[in-house]
Order: sequence, then C-alpha cells, then structure tokens
Amino acid sequence: MSHEYEKVDVPENGEPITLAEGSDDEIDVPENPIVPIIHGDGIGQDVAPAAQRVLEAAADATGRSIAWMRLYAGESARERYDENLPEDTVRAIDEHRVAIKGPLTTPVGSGFRSLNVALRQTLDFYANVRPTFYLQGVPSPMKAPEEMDMVTFRENTEDVYAGIEWEQGTEEVEQVREFVEEEMGFDETMHDGPIGIGLKPISETGSKRLVRKAIDYALEHDREKVTLVHKGNIMKFTEGQFGTWGMEVAEEEYPDEEVFAAPDSLWETEDEVDIPEDAVMVEERLADAMLQWIQLRTDEFDVLAMPNLNGDYISDAAGAQIGGLGIAPGANFGDGRLLAEPVHGSAPKRAGQDMANPTAMILSGRMMLEYLGWTDAADLVRDAVEETISGGKVTYDLERQLEGVEKVSTSEFADEIVDTVERLS
Ligand code: NAP
Repeated sequence: MSHEYEKVDVPENGEPITLAEGSDDEIDVPENPIVPIIHGDGIGQDVAPAAQRVLEAAADATGRSIAWMRLYAGESARERYDENLPEDTVRAIDEHRVAIKGPLTTPVGSGFRSLNVALRQTLDFYANVRPTFYLQGVPSPMKAPEEMDMVTFRENTEDVYAGIEWEQGTEEVEQVREFVEEEMGFDETMHDGPIGIGLKPISETGSKRLVRKAIDYALEHDREKVTLVHKGNIMKFTEGQFGTWGMEVAEEEYPDEEVFAAPDSLWETEDEVDIPEDAVMVEERLADAMLQWIQLRTDEFDVLAMPNLNGDYISDAAGAQIGGLGIAPGANFGDGRLLAEPVHGSAPKRAGQDMANPTAMILSGRMMLEYLGWTDAADLVRDAVEETISGGKVTYDLERQLEGVEKVSTSEFADEIVDTVERLS
C-alpha cells in the first residue's frame, strides 16, 4: 500500500484494513481501522460530521476506535485540487477498502459526469445495497409499515448505467439506425425522423456476481428468500437472461440444502413449491408486478436482486414506505470493499443550516460497521437511532409530518443519539 498522497494525510493513530490472506473478498479489520470519509456537498457538511460522532461513540462503546481520513470530492475538491474527483481520493478509497461518503452534487447539464457514478464504476463497487426497514416513530403512508424488512441489491455498473446512448440529430445515431435497420434486419421498428438510441448491456459476469453477493448476504444474515426482479417477459435477452443467469448461480454454485432454486417461479405461487427447511429460496418475479407487491404483500419479500434500472425504481419506492430520503441508508459493495453512502442527494436548499436529517448517513455508517464485523456496534447504532426518534426528538422533515414531537437540529439530534449509545452500552 502506498502512503503517499498529494494533499491528504494518513492518520497515525490507525491501521489499514487489508484483504485477508488468501482471499479476494474477505477483509482483515484491526481494532483501530483507518476509514476514509468524504463529507460531500450541500447537506453533506451537516450530516457527515453528525454521523461521524455517532459512529465514533458506538466504536468507543464496544472497545474500538475509528481513525478518520478526510478526503475531498465535488465542491471541496474543486477548492483544494481544482478538480472534482482527485486521484488522492480515488486511490485512498481503493487502498483502504472501506469508506463512507456524503452526497455529491451533479450540476444538471454542466457537462460533468456524476461523481457518484464515476466513483462506483472506477473502483468496481458493483452492488448498490439498500436495507429498507421500519424504525418505530417514523411517519409512513402505509397502514403497516413495520412489515417492511427488505434489502435491495441493485447492479451498479451496466444496464442503463453503462451510459451507451446516441443523441438525436448526430451522425452517430444515424449510423446506429442504419446498422440496426439494414444489417440487423429491424427495418420496420423505428419511426422516421429524429431519434435517440440507447443500448442496454446485461452480461453474465455482471449478473452472476450481483446475484452471488445477494445470496451470500442472505445466507450470512439468516434471510429466507432472494427474489430476482426483472422484466424478462418483454426484454428476453437482457432482463430475462439476468434471471436465467441468476437462477444458474443458485442451482450450480450452492448445495441444495443451503440454497433452493425455485422452479418456474415466475408463473407458480410459493405454496406450490416444496422448499427444504432452512434453505434460502431463490425465485424470479416480474418488475411491474413487484412494484405493487412491495406495497400489497410487503412481508413476503426479503432480499431482492435486480438490474440497474429496476433497482433504481424499486429501492426508491420501498424507501418511501418507511420514511423516505432522510432515513434511507445505502452502501456500495465490491469484492473485499465497501463504500457506504446515504440514498439522498445534497439537498442544496437545506445546506449549511444544521437542519437536515442525519439518520440516512448514520444508518449507512451502521452498514459499514456491520461489514467490519462489528455487529454489536451496528446494533447499538440502530437501537439508539430508533429510541431517539420514537422518543419524539426529530429533525424538521419528520416533525412536519408528526404531532406532539420536538423539532431538533442536526447536531442536537446527533447529541441525543450519542447520549443514547452511551446509555445503552
Ligand atoms: P436530494 O438532494 O435528495 O433532496 C431532495 C429533497 O429531499 C430535499 O430538498 C429535502 O426535501 C429532502 N431530503 C433529502 N435528504 C434529506 C435529509 N437528509 N434530511 C431531510 N430532508 C432531506 O435530491 P435532489 O434535490 O434531486 O438532488 C440534489 C443534488 O444531489 C443533485 O445534484 C443530485 O444529482 C445530487 N444527488 C446525489 C446523490 C449522491 O451523492 N449519492 C444522490 C442523489 C442526488 P424538503 O426540502 O422538501 O424538505
């Protein structure tokens, strides 16, 4: 590992997380790991320091420490480096394996690519993972929000994220049209006149490694079912093939008593299938039906694995059922690496006012603690957040939807959680 960075310092009070010997996926975690952190743009400056304090308190309460290594991207990087995503930042995240970031602004139409997408793709964080569970006291539009306890695995590198598109009116789009119509024989398919064309690549490598991650997660976290969600009835050779490759992983790579690949699950109901006791069942479902089932049959779903665009819609819809953006945590997983980040963006109109809800960032940090193997610290964070919210101390976004609660600032909310962590430990 190189310790030479242009403008950031490696903390001296910590040790690096490394790959476990002989493994390309397991990590070796010291009791005082160095953890890179990007505060991010907009409300990142409010929620990231709040999350840092809570995570430090949980580490401390369980006999460990975190040596933060502050990195820069977006606006803070433009001030220091005159670029959006400096080499220091990418390399430090790459070398230290586990990191956390706040939101980064992507100015619309300004010509630079989303920094979030760039980071995920450059370091091959191929699975975007979002646990969606209900915290007592959080306002929800659902009658029984507590039935929601799902984890979505969204493919992070291909499908629409591959970004292969041609703009209407360009020479390139006309070349693609000509190739598709004349050489590939789709001559009656596209309308005449201006047209935009996009490609949607879904590969065996991309699909199988995502589904493998979801199944491994289900096995490690005692989950019962992994549902592969796609639109394979219409897009047979991309979405449908994602399902086929996913089922191959379930059938071929795990013993039957551990993982049961449900036959014909797209068209059969679950009670017609004989599932071995304790096995994780892997099934397929169509994406459109899934969007209504997560609302109507919420408690039937557990871990979901999906191509990129389905994952985008379904994880946001699921998040809305349990409190929305201020609450929803996430993390990007690669092999032997993790980058935790909340689902929300930089919410510029709320920035710098010590008012944003830091729960999503704190719970993203909790996913990071789980990944470090610090389950006791992770549980402590969840319990303290839940106790604080159900005790009626909430930030503005929840306060405006509830009665009889006290509105607190970002930093007061974090103070309250830190006190609760200390009290519960
Ligand atoms: P957003 O930043 O998520 O904010 C939309 C609205 O959601 C806010 O105005 C606020 O609503 C509410 N909200 C979000 N986070 C909150 C929190 N922690 N506490 C309380 N309320 C919260 O979405 P956006 O306005 O569409 O995007 C802004 C910028 O963020 C864009 O440049 C976008 O590209 C970027 N973005 C980055 C990421 C990322 O870094 N991963 C993700 C998404 C978007 P009210 O104002 O109504 O209270």
